[in-house]
Amino acid sequence: MVVETHSAEETFELGYKMGQKASSGDIVCLEGDLGAGKTVFAQGFAKGLGIRENINSPTFTIVQIYEGGRLPLYHFDVYRITDIEEIYEIGFEEYFFGNGVCLIEWASIVHQVIPQSAVIIKIHKSLSADFDYRKIEITGFMNMGEENENDIGD
Ligand code: ADP
Ligand code: MG
Repeated sequence: MVVETHSAEETFELGYKMGQKASSGDIVCLEGDLGAGKTVFAQGFAKGLGIRENINSPTFTIVQIYEGGRLPLYHFDVYRITDIEEIYEIGFEEYFFGNGVCLIEWASIVHQVIPQSAVIIKIHKSLSADFDYRKIEITGFMNMGEENENDIGD
């Protein structure tokens, strides 16, 4: 599924809707260059989960935990990881396979440990389009209106 947004608010809103629909055990990966809007999406997602705290990119910690919402949110930013060992050191399994929801910025850096079932969200800026335009590709998310009509008869 592809969603186009034309402002930070629209990306926030997309995150918000997905946060409302998220269930226990979901892993949502966020890809995109610096300034693409990963954290804006994460902020909307957190609000959709009912988290009131303001969430920012976890700068000095790999994972930030928010427990005030409908489900715990584990917000990862793995940008600074240079060795896959570091993700084992923080005990990622407890978060990935726990009762909460994981949002992972720069997930491809730790692709070795990302489960097949993860949702991948890629946020693209376009140099030729408007400065606030983003093309957002979503793969693997249930309940987002992705119809599989083409599969019928296969
Ligand atoms: P990242 O976490 O990917 O590095 P941020 O979410 O921190 O990026 O920053 C995205 C920046 O781009 C914010 O300043 C936001 O206001 C701006 N922006 C402009 N248009 C959009 C859009 N359509 N979606 C998301 N952010 C946008
Ligand atoms: Mg960020």
